Amino acid sequence: MSLLAAAPATRRPAHRSLFRRSLGAVFAVIFLTWAALIARELIDIGLLQSRNGQAENQLWAELAKLQALPRLDQPQALEARMAELDGLLRDEWRHKGHRPPFYLLQVWHEGRLLLRRDPDLSGRDRSPPQEGVYASDSRWLYAEASEPEQGLIVRRWQEKPGDWHFSVAGFSYYARPLLYGLPLLILPVWLLFRLGFAPLQRIGQQISQRSAKDLSPLPDSPYVELAPLVNAVNSLMARLQLRLEREREFLLDAAHELKTPLAVVKLSAEALDGGQDTERRAESAQRLRQGVDRATHTVHQLLALARSGADALDMAQREHELVALVSDRVVLASPMALSRQIELELQAPEECWLRVNRESVGALIDNLVDNAIKYSPAGGHVLVRISDTPEAVQLEVLDQGPGIPAELQAKVFERFYRIPGQEQHGSGLGLAIVERAAAQHGARVQLGTGLEGRGLGVAVRFPREAGASSSPPAPSGEA
Ligand code: ATP
Ligand code: MG
Repeated sequence: MSLLAAAPATRRPAHRSLFRRSLGAVFAVIFLTWAALIARELIDIGLLQSRNGQAENQLWAELAKLQALPRLDQPQALEARMAELDGLLRDEWRHKGHRPPFYLLQVWHEGRLLLRRDPDLSGRDRSPPQEGVYASDSRWLYAEASEPEQGLIVRRWQEKPGDWHFSVAGFSYYARPLLYGLPLLILPVWLLFRLGFAPLQRIGQQISQRSAKDLSPLPDSPYVELAPLVNAVNSLMARLQLRLEREREFLLDAAHELKTPLAVVKLSAEALDGGQDTERRAESAQRLRQGVDRATHTVHQLLALARSGADALDMAQREHELVALVSDRVVLASPMALSRQIELELQAPEECWLRVNRESVGALIDNLVDNAIKYSPAGGHVLVRISDTPEAVQLEVLDQGPGIPAELQAKVFERFYRIPGQEQHGSGLGLAIVERAAAQHGARVQLGTGLEGRGLGVAVRFPREAGASSSPPAPSGEA
């Protein structure tokens, strides 16, 4: 199976853009900053205008008082002066470019209303001030100027300023800097982002232009943001390189392993063809069978290796009764044990339920039992033991063979490794299969001493998941 498998054809095309996202974020920040500044400005202006409006209202009340003092008994003359003052007020506002504020003026003399003016107020679309309430409210500013000795009080209400800011004209005044500024900002920001993203694009190009064989590291990136990405890609490439080399070695070893029995098959077949001597023909036929058996065994082991461990195609695990599973395998191994007069014993509880992958654990048991029988002296004893505790289930296979020297105990798990000077045939894959199958179940394999202080004892400890029990699962129609 190729490691560098082609990308699936139905991949969803990338539709989001980091570039657009960053650009959008920048403009969102500009807009929000603008909105916050405008809000702040409006509050400040509101306060300032309210203060200015009050000062102005007070001034006009004082002016009205000064006009009223010499005309307390000439209401018509006072009315005429006030109309003149109105004219001045209007002119002032016209020069400012706005309409004059609405107001209501009362001149009281010794408790009697001498004059009342509210130019334009009657045509207003909002409620006039309450004339009996002498205080400012949310809409009206109130001011008073009095001359107690003369019994004169001037009362003046003036509308609170501020509407303009919330009008379309006011809003466009504030929006103008943003409207003029944004188009001017777009180009430089766009260019800056393009420049900023260019190294990332270059890395993408460097990777996409490579051939599938080129796993050399990418050049280091001088940018702190990109260095972790480049390092991660390089470390992935290094791991891939290592893995490819291992796969290549594996392929060579597998071919080599098959070459010897196939050469025997070929030679024996030729001898069978040419030879007349029945004894030699029988010998050749025997060698032919052995060659075929060994090649078949190696192929079987290669398949078991491919199916076990992290590379397994089917990793599914289900609750299985381990005692039945192990005894089935022990029964399958018993003809081989019988042929070597080896006593094969199983010690196990009544039943023991465990979540496992059946095929993978089957290969694990087969290989341990096979090794124990194969490397035991004729007439020996092989014990397979299952012990069940709430934390873990332990599977042990103990024999009376030569054992494995401590210094080789790590090495025997390597693929195709066999201890030199071996009389028994094998492909050196059994313990690699055991280790992978155990790892697939989160289990640990430990080598120790076998029976009666000699031989080899292999213990595989399967941890139980928290809350798991050794009782059978509820019926679920399991295959
Ligand atoms: P295969 O299992 O693929 O047919 P194999 O038995 O040689 O071949 P492994 O099962 O991986 O390969 O074992 C590796 C080596 O470890 C063996 O060659 C053998 O030397 C040693 N070994 C394994 N099991 C035992 C054992 N029970 N007693 C003594 N030596 C053992
Ligand atoms: Mg073996």
